[in-house]
Amino acid sequence: MIDNLPPLREVIATHDLRAKKQLGQNFLLDLNLTHKIARQAGDLTGCDVLEVGPGPGGLTRGLLACGARHVLAIEKDPRALPALEQIADAYPGRLTVITGDALQIDPLAHLTPPIRVAANLPYNVGTELLIRWLTPRDWPPFWQSLTLMFQREVAERIVARPGSKAYGRLALLAQWRADAQIVMSLPPEAFVPAPKVHSAVVHLTALPQPRFPADAAILSQITGAGFNQRRKMLRASLKGLHPQIEALLDSVGIPPTARAEEIELERFCALARALQAARQG
Ligand code: SAM
Repeated sequence: MIDNLPPLREVIATHDLRAKKQLGQNFLLDLNLTHKIARQAGDLTGCDVLEVGPGPGGLTRGLLACGARHVLAIEKDPRALPALEQIADAYPGRLTVITGDALQIDPLAHLTPPIRVAANLPYNVGTELLIRWLTPRDWPPFWQSLTLMFQREVAERIVARPGSKAYGRLALLAQWRADAQIVMSLPPEAFVPAPKVHSAVVHLTALPQPRFPADAAILSQITGAGFNQRRKMLRASLKGLHPQIEALLDSVGIPPTARAEEIELERFCALARALQAARQG
């Protein structure tokens, strides 16, 4: 028992919260599991937590039971409001709920640093938000850490290392400015209804500054061109970026015949700096 609120199956029955496919609803009903996920988010005491897509509130209850100072929950489905209000009453002053689309709402006005983010979201919304959270105008970002559920294949793309099939733009984006780790794996049966695929929780911690210096836009151009044609050699896939691309690749120790998936983040950042200097010179 993590709190004195009713079990989640009862909450769902009372409020008639039948899962809707179009909202990507696969609920976690085991409070021991949601508590365990909340613990992966780090020390929450003294932190505000942004939770996206609380649904009936299993993870929300885990976050509050773990001592979050304040949880701001953004939920698109108004049917979940009564269940979330019940949680807010049990934790006075510690839960604020906003009904709406997390892709349209700027949560910052409602949050005080330090801020952590936790969510079990529909996978498409989760990936879009992750990319936004990893590409703010200024670094460090508003968040200290992100603890997010993804389908396992996406989680593997976030933490992938060079040479693997999963390695690509998402890995480079995540690992350039954050530490990223898979901290839990969940089978389909952990959810109601069960999705078709396995899931995994990824924990990302923001680095105070990027791991290696590079201009974000130029790095993105390079990885975009390199991985859009991942079977091509870099001298061909990056040809459009600079007339002397082969010499630039050589200058930073990347064989022009290599493919993007073989190249480490540090080398891509070195190439971004060389390309920037060559364009300016
Ligand atoms: N966090 C709950 C849990 O673990 O049981 C619910 C998880 S369910 C996979 C995803 C939740 O995100 C649903 O409650 C759904 O209504 C909500 N949702 C879907 N799209 C959303 C969006 N754009 N903004 C906010 N919430 C969204």
